[in-house]
Amino acid sequence: MKAEYSGSIESNRKVLHELTAGGDWKVQLQNSIRSDELKYFFELTESERIGIQNSIRLNVSTSPYYLLLSDPYDPDCPIRRTIIPNEEESILSPEESSDPLFEEKLMVTRGLTKMYDNRVLLFSNQTCSVYCRHCMRGRKVSFSNEHLTKKDLENCFEYLRNHPEIDDVVISGGDPLNMSDSRIEFILSELESIPSVKICRLGTRNPVTLPMRITDTLSSILDKYNTDNLSIFCNTQFNHEKECTPESKQAILKLLKSGVSVGNQAVLLRGINDDGESMLRLHKKLLEQRIRAYYLYDPELIPGSRGFRTPLGKGIEIVSFMRGKISGMGIPSFVNDLPGGGGKVTLSPDWYLGYHKSTRTHFFKSALRGTIHKSFEPLSSNYEDTYRQLSEEEYIELAGIAHPIENLP
Ligand code: SF4
Repeated sequence: MKAEYSGSIESNRKVLHELTAGGDWKVQLQNSIRSDELKYFFELTESERIGIQNSIRLNVSTSPYYLLLSDPYDPDCPIRRTIIPNEEESILSPEESSDPLFEEKLMVTRGLTKMYDNRVLLFSNQTCSVYCRHCMRGRKVSFSNEHLTKKDLENCFEYLRNHPEIDDVVISGGDPLNMSDSRIEFILSELESIPSVKICRLGTRNPVTLPMRITDTLSSILDKYNTDNLSIFCNTQFNHEKECTPESKQAILKLLKSGVSVGNQAVLLRGINDDGESMLRLHKKLLEQRIRAYYLYDPELIPGSRGFRTPLGKGIEIVSFMRGKISGMGIPSFVNDLPGGGGKVTLSPDWYLGYHKSTRTHFFKSALRGTIHKSFEPLSSNYEDTYRQLSEEEYIELAGIAHPIENLP
């Protein structure tokens, strides 16, 4: 039985906290807060009211834990913005599409998408603890007709058995850690039994949105199937330092203890984390939580995403800003997953200035100091024509300001 909320925002939040704090993840999900209940926990803006009514994408729902991290009065709170749709989410732009990556077109059997030769994406389930407003799978996440039956799953495993070139399976959805322990165990045991499948990557936001889901039982299941045959990785998605809590750290530590390596796939989101300082603070916190940076995603061209999108140059600017201020373990690769199923490409700041062939000299700009530095190509190289070539004038100018190197011949 769910609680009735009728008091002030503060008292409703207190009731929600008392109902769920200390409870397990199932209690959290039983008390999830859905669209028409958000008004009891937030002072909604007109734009948010319109967004809740007219969203053209996935349902609206959040775990109590994640809701209680948010600000009830500040519409710019980074957590609140990922929970509550605003007016912009109801507007479809011409360049947007519900499946920009062609995940449905590239489906080889129901629930299994093959974009790369050796890797597949298994859509294990359609439920999540929070339906993130920036979710690139808003076309299917939260919709019950996307539920995968046991027979569907068996067909997926059959496909993997018949395609030994596939050695890497990403399990996503939905959030795979929203499935029951027994279903997770069933999937992992099947994967572990297929000799050609070596890597399993779990894509989950639960360390961020429902950290109590990482129970000792779940850890022992992960530990059990992390074997000589199968290596299990977990990629999660923290987008803002406010999400780094003692609870999330405990969840990560449990995953690490079960031998699962944890990486972060942040999404670049306008007004939430689209500046170098925010992203740096987030990634410093993540390293403290023993999470390595993996990707920083340019948001997909999904319906109603205009409120989250940033210029492409922002991501390059941010990773450029971070270089030299945090170890490489904390700097994500900025990636664009190409619309039309082209796969991911990385975009990075250009520290390389060019090559001068007759002196075999490469010139670089230091990310740390902004100074010009040179290095030299080996004598026997057959790559010389592949580099960006410098004119004589450019060479003279760069050589004149390049940082000296001791003991040059
Ligand atoms: S948890 Fe992941 S799959 Fe679920 S709504 Fe959020 S981004 Fe989408």
